[in-house]
Amino acid sequence: MADAMGVETGEVLACFRDAALQPIPWRETASAPVHEVVHRDVDLARQLPLPTHNEHDGGPYVTAGLMITRNPRTGAQNVSIHRCQLHGPNRLGVLLLPRHAHMFFEMAEQGGRPLEAAIVIGVDPLTLLASQAIAPIDVDELEIAGALHRRPLSVVKCLTSDLRVPADAEVVIEGRLLPGVRELEGPFGEFPQYYGERGERHVMEVDAIAHRKDAIFHTIVGGGLEHLLLGAIPREATLLAHLQRSFPNVRDVHLSRGGACRYHLHVQIRKRQEGEAKNIMLGAFAGHYDVKHVIVVDEDVDIHDAAAVEWAVATRFQADRDLVVVSESQGSKLDPSTRNGVGAKMGLDATKPLSADEMTFKRIRVPGEEKVDAAALVARSATNWREALKR
Ligand code: MN
Repeated sequence: MADAMGVETGEVLACFRDAALQPIPWRETASAPVHEVVHRDVDLARQLPLPTHNEHDGGPYVTAGLMITRNPRTGAQNVSIHRCQLHGPNRLGVLLLPRHAHMFFEMAEQGGRPLEAAIVIGVDPLTLLASQAIAPIDVDELEIAGALHRRPLSVVKCLTSDLRVPADAEVVIEGRLLPGVRELEGPFGEFPQYYGERGERHVMEVDAIAHRKDAIFHTIVGGGLEHLLLGAIPREATLLAHLQRSFPNVRDVHLSRGGACRYHLHVQIRKRQEGEAKNIMLGAFAGHYDVKHVIVVDEDVDIHDAAAVEWAVATRFQADRDLVVVSESQGSKLDPSTRNGVGAKMGLDATKPLSADEMTFKRIRVPGEEKVDAAALVARSATNWREALKR
């Protein structure tokens, strides 16, 4: 993601936040590569290579599809990713969680009308990431994609609706989310590496499929690093901005891989005041209900290094003094250890006491060790350690 943005890894959150704050309107083109081949006689299973991902998934799925919808009242577009299960030649089961696309669907359904939708597959990494921005309703995430690219995104009008989709995409599935229709969807392998349950879900009827002549079909494997990073970066950017509003001494946050990039938050602070790590934890729990365990560390600890954070807990944390537990609070429904999402929060203050003697928490260091490249000293081909070191 840093490479796609053209920045260093440590600058990704700031770059993403700036783009989300200053979207760039898209530019419409009359024709697009994605319209090279058009199927109006739709047969999803025959025309697209829909994979079945996990052992107990309910069937083949579209997982890397950007669903474009429009607010029926304002006309503003929304972009979001939903898991879509193959239900028939022109039918998909869609999991719509209660966010923007779901609100637009409810507006349409209350009037007894379908909601036009387009599923875009095969976009560049920045457009993919922009789709996951935690932006206000009526902000078109394609404009955040433009800001990440630092130029307007090229879009083209759909063949069967007024929706605008990225012109350079590989595949577009056009159709309508049906009012008053629900069908069983799932189970499906989700980000915590467990199955999301089977249930009555929304249904999309497909009117056309368009794709490039040599289209590449993109899929995302649930719980893999690609899936986790797409969720993590926008959440980290939002949590960092949220915490810094109340605590300007928060320097960085990281949703760790071991916590499924959702449940474990590492927070790095420049400590000024005893006790404030606990206030910061409570702020983090309030920032997103998925945040379950928070570890607060000093600025000398690399929060992207799980071993370094564990070391801080091992040497700067005492459970009777530095632990905060909040019982029976709202968490993630996909965390199987909760009771339908209700569970505990835990915060660990692994910062040094401000009053400690300098030598008590002084990190040991061998002067000049950073100049020694031990790996380069040892010949890779050597099998005898004494021979290897003598060279
Ligand atoms: Mn949105």
